[in-house]
Amino acid sequence: MTIYNFSAGPATMPQPVIQQIKDDLPSYKNSGMSVMEISHRSSLFDGIIADAEQDLRDLMNIPDNYKVLFFQGGGTLQFTAAPLNLATKYHRIGLLDSGHWADRAGDEASRVGVKVDVLDSTKDIKYTELPVLKDLKQDTYDYVHITTNNTIEGTAYSKIPDTGATELVGDQSSNFLAQQYKVEDFGAIMAGAQKNLGIAGLTIVIVRDDLIGKVKNLPSMVDYELFAKKNSMFNTPPVFAIYAAGLVLKWLKEQGGVPEMERRNLKKSGLLYDYLDNSKLFTAPVKKADRSLTNIPFITGDPDVDADLISKATAAGLLNIKGHRSVGGMRASLYNAMPYEGAQALVDFLEKYEADYW
Ligand code: PMP
Repeated sequence: MTIYNFSAGPATMPQPVIQQIKDDLPSYKNSGMSVMEISHRSSLFDGIIADAEQDLRDLMNIPDNYKVLFFQGGGTLQFTAAPLNLATKYHRIGLLDSGHWADRAGDEASRVGVKVDVLDSTKDIKYTELPVLKDLKQDTYDYVHITTNNTIEGTAYSKIPDTGATELVGDQSSNFLAQQYKVEDFGAIMAGAQKNLGIAGLTIVIVRDDLIGKVKNLPSMVDYELFAKKNSMFNTPPVFAIYAAGLVLKWLKEQGGVPEMERRNLKKSGLLYDYLDNSKLFTAPVKKADRSLTNIPFITGDPDVDADLISKATAAGLLNIKGHRSVGGMRASLYNAMPYEGAQALVDFLEKYEADYW
């Protein structure tokens, strides 16, 4: 039986990458050492991190005046790091409240004494649409925080809100490298690796040079300037996660880069949305224009039917389609590494389930 893993993260990885890890594991580049055992100060690791950075720069067309930083602590630590590093003039940020992770970002900013103004929220309609930025007051906020893709609620910005002269910070954790955005539209981007860039333990930050170094003596592990100065090796970095990310980035390049990923993700998600929109049993609750390419929630409206479906899907090798507890129902995550055949297998299964149901 072919297994497809629809987990929201940690998530399915490209099979060639898993194979490469397997091949490399006992002895990396004939060194006689596993990549798990090599020093971050070794020339072997210098090559790994330098290649990963360059490949990411190539894939995202990252301009030279942006730093690429490798952090630990997940997207969540960046909810603390971004306000500490970037909210240095007004000590106030604007937030588009598009769901759970946007709310979490606002909460962490408040905890470090930064004021958070919710500029728009779609909470009252259960986040089935994206909030909209209207009449942003300039010279008020250090930045506006958005979540480009809402992992739980299944919405994504295909067009980035225009914040004028105010900086924009984007949490791209769940559609990083999965659809095309212009780095220049953001002052800073953050993304955990465990959805589209390999394994947990690594978080990428891309930040424009002139925004860093405005405040001195931040706690070292969240200090963008210090990490930039130390090439992300202020302390021991997550060596294995950076190595795995490097392999995923090489795989992405071979596949045709982000434009090709976006094309495939549109095709995969389109297949599932088309089926759901024509189904009499299932509903995809998100407004069409705001739908995510990578996380697709759907419901029947009856929790008992949902539970039955999830258990039968699991038995059929379609794993982790249970929706997040705050939304219920089902959710299929179709990240870059999910092949078209996985989306097809899910749709075939749902069609059959629906036919048997009536
Ligand atoms: N932002 C988004 C959009 C996420 O989906 C997640 C995790 N699922 C996070 C932030 C938090 O990431 P982490 O668990 O790596 O801290």
